[in-house]
Amino acid sequence: MKPVIAIVGRPNVGKSTLFNRLTKSRDAIVADFAGLTRDRHYGQGHLGKREYIVIDTGGFEPDAESGIFKEMAKQTRQAVAESDVVVFVVDARAGVSAQDHDIGNYLRRLGKPCLLVANKAEGMREGAQLVEFYELGLGDVLPVSAAHGQGVRSMLDAALDAL
Ligand code: GDP
Ligand code: MG
Repeated sequence: MKPVIAIVGRPNVGKSTLFNRLTKSRDAIVADFAGLTRDRHYGQGHLGKREYIVIDTGGFEPDAESGIFKEMAKQTRQAVAESDVVVFVVDARAGVSAQDHDIGNYLRRLGKPCLLVANKAEGMREGAQLVEFYELGLGDVLPVSAAHGQGVRSMLDAALDAL
């Protein structure tokens, strides 16, 4: 069974950009994977011989009545339930938001392996700008730039090691 990595976070932090970096083939045939539903984007990739499945969340026809945030919460919960490890993406440039806190609180209670990833960190010196993310209580912050590919490999290593 390939491990499943869920990418969660509020809109616009770069989840889909990261998903594209982590997957070579998208919308993988996942019929073999019991419990995986079709209303999220699945992809697969590998790091050397280690294969994995990635789930992207967000942007999937939110139903107008429930609204985007309710839909996002549902997507997040379902993807997290299906996964072995969670990659929680925040925006290194925007800083911590109330929504980040909500998602962080939810993830902290689950006790599932979770990596806190600060995207859009290209050209940033570690330290100062990332320090505030420690208040989410999820431990170390891994800086990445999904758009430029920086830090993605070591993040993936950490995700697969967390299993
Ligand atoms: P999602 O809503 O979380 O899936 O975010 P997207 O992947 O759609 O990206 C949202 C915006 O952030 C887009 O304009 C991306 O081009 C931009 N973005 C994504 N990754 C990076 C990054 O590493 N650096 C910067 N500067 N922008 C990024
Ligand atoms: Mg997206």
